[in-house]
Amino acid sequence: WTRGTAEEAEVSLRELAALAETAGSQVLDGVLQRRQNPDPGTYLGSGKAAELAEIVQATGADTVIIDADLAPSQRRALEDIVRIKVIDRTALILDIFAQHAKSREGKAQVELAQLEYLLPRLRGWGESMSRQAGGRVAAGAGIGSRGPGETKIELDRRRIRTRMSKLRREIAAMTPARATQRSSRRRRHVPSVAIAGYTNAGKSSLLNRLTGAGVLVENALFATLDPTVRRAQTPDGRDYTLADTVGFVRSLPTQLVEAFRSTLEEVGESDLLLHVVDVSHPDPEGQIAAVRAVLAEIEGVDDVPELIVLNKADVADPEVVARLRRREPRSVVVSAYTGAGIDDLRERVAAELPRPEELVEVVVP
Ligand code: GDP
Repeated sequence: WTRGTAEEAEVSLRELAALAETAGSQVLDGVLQRRQNPDPGTYLGSGKAAELAEIVQATGADTVIIDADLAPSQRRALEDIVRIKVIDRTALILDIFAQHAKSREGKAQVELAQLEYLLPRLRGWGESMSRQAGGRVAAGAGIGSRGPGETKIELDRRRIRTRMSKLRREIAAMTPARATQRSSRRRRHVPSVAIAGYTNAGKSSLLNRLTGAGVLVENALFATLDPTVRRAQTPDGRDYTLADTVGFVRSLPTQLVEAFRSTLEEVGESDLLLHVVDVSHPDPEGQIAAVRAVLAEIEGVDDVPELIVLNKADVADPEVVARLRRREPRSVVVSAYTGAGIDDLRERVAAELPRPEELVEVVVP
């Protein structure tokens, strides 16, 4: 369901599909629903929900992802119709954050956001009983809603709140540890490149292009780094690491902002930022500005040189590409899809990376 234009809805659904793929799913089909307002019961309305159930049957899908934030009752009502798991946009994004969170702070921030999401969604025994009996959700109303289930749920809620306060305290105490981590990384003398940009901009395609066969880092030198970090080489044979970051998404739910930011910390610790932009997107300038605004909040990013990678040039309007080139002199035009411009990009990366003698030895205090 969408309130925007058909084109906005298409862009949004493509982004959702890219998010799902990032989370490791295979996307089978998409359905658009246009209505004046979302249906309070099933979000999509019963007709569209039935259509969705047929698609689920035909494709053998095991999950439905809705491009919105569903009320807990809407999600359950939809699950009753499609008979497979239904998740909403926030749950999908949280899943991706959990996969990407590396630092202790990142992990704590993501867990905090997950618990915040879970808290209002815990289902009591009384609630499910009244739903079965009357087909309506009426927590806390009438007989059966004060049973042992309700006590158990209160207990779970209390436990979650306790855990959340603990996480908040831990996060508050973590900042000094970060600076130390950065110093120890610098001492490794291996330059690192971070790739950032919107979901669907082509970050992982570019990562694959730059790392050739896409070999995972196995060298002992890199062993302490995350497994998603790849090793690459400059044309003149210098090693560097290349790390994909969590993609930006349109209208990130506010309760996820902190968790998202914490997954981007590694950008502040890298030697070069490749900021990937989809130049075939309707508003590439807006996306560049949004990415920069968020990155500016991250510790250390001011010191990291940025190279804009104008991607998807094969399907973009050449005038738009020319306009962006003028606006962003520090940019390279490529197509991760056809490979055009990739050699040029490799040269630019090589030129931007610090030489071994420039990688300073920082002594950890
Ligand atoms: P990510 O979400 O930023 O990692 O983006 P992906 O690398 O997963 O790419 C998103 C979609 O855009 C995929 O369907 C890619 O095949 C497609 N894509 C990536 N780069 C290009 C490109 O240069 N040209 C075209 N036409 N499509 C591309």
